[in-house]
Amino acid sequence: MTEILALPAFDDNYIWLLRARGFVAVVDPGDAAPVLAHLEKSGDRLCAMLTTHHHGDHVGGLAEILACFPVPVFGPGIENIPGVTHALAGGERIGLPEIGVEFEVIAVPGHTRGHLAYYGPSIGGDGVIFCGDTLFGAGCGRLFEGTPAQMQNSLAKLAALPPPTRVYCAHEYTQSNLRFARAVEPGSIDVQRRSEHVELERAAGRPTIPTSIRVELASNPFLRWDAAAVRAAAATRLGHAPADAVETFSAIREWKNRF
Ligand code: ZN
Ligand code: FE
Repeated sequence: MTEILALPAFDDNYIWLLRARGFVAVVDPGDAAPVLAHLEKSGDRLCAMLTTHHHGDHVGGLAEILACFPVPVFGPGIENIPGVTHALAGGERIGLPEIGVEFEVIAVPGHTRGHLAYYGPSIGGDGVIFCGDTLFGAGCGRLFEGTPAQMQNSLAKLAALPPPTRVYCAHEYTQSNLRFARAVEPGSIDVQRRSEHVELERAAGRPTIPTSIRVELASNPFLRWDAAAVRAAAATRLGHAPADAVETFSAIREWKNRF
C-alpha cells in the first residue's frame, strides 16, 4: 500500500511524499528542510524526486537534497531545472520500482510552458494526480508562460480523468478560490456546500487537499466552461456571449486576476 503524506512548506505549499516498503519519493520539493527532517525522523529512504515545473517553490530544495541523496529526478525537459536527470515532455510512463508505482506523464502547459502532471491510475484505489500549479482546489494556476487556449486544453485533460481520481495540487488555496467561485456561480449549491465544508476544515487546521476530479467538476469555475451560469458570468465580463470554451475560460481567468 502506498501512503501519501503532506509536508507543509512556506506559507501554503504542500510537498507530497509517496511512501511504501520503507522508501519515499517526493513531489515538488521546494524546500529541502522538511524533506530531510522527514527522512531523518522516519528512517525512510529516498528513491526519487518528481517536479512539475521550474518555479522555486517547487524545485528550490533539489540541490540540497541531492547533495545528501543522489536519486533520479524527473521533470520537464524544456524548463532546464538543475538536478533533473530524467527529462520529460509528457506522454511517457515512469516507474518507481522501490515503491512499486507507475505514473503516466501528462503535459499541462499554461502556468509554465513545460508544466507536467503525474497520473498514477492504480495508486490508492481511486488513482491520483499530482498536478502542481495547474489545477487547484476550486481554482487553477496563473498563466505566466502559456495562453488561455493552452491552459484550457491542459485543464480539459485533467477534467477527463476518472471522477474519483484524487487531486494532489501544490498549494492550499481552496478557501480563497471558493470566495471567487461564489462570485462566479452565486446560485450554485455545490459551491455553497463546499465553501461551508472548507471553512470548517480550515478552521480546524486541516488541509483541503486532496480533492477529487468529481468535486472539481462540480464546483471549480475553471473546469466549468460548459455550465450555463459560468458562460453567463463570462458574457457579463466580455460584453458578449463567449464563442467557445477557451473564451469562457479566459474571461473567468482574467476576472480572477483582478478579484
Ligand atoms: Zn508555480
Ligand atoms: Fe507554486
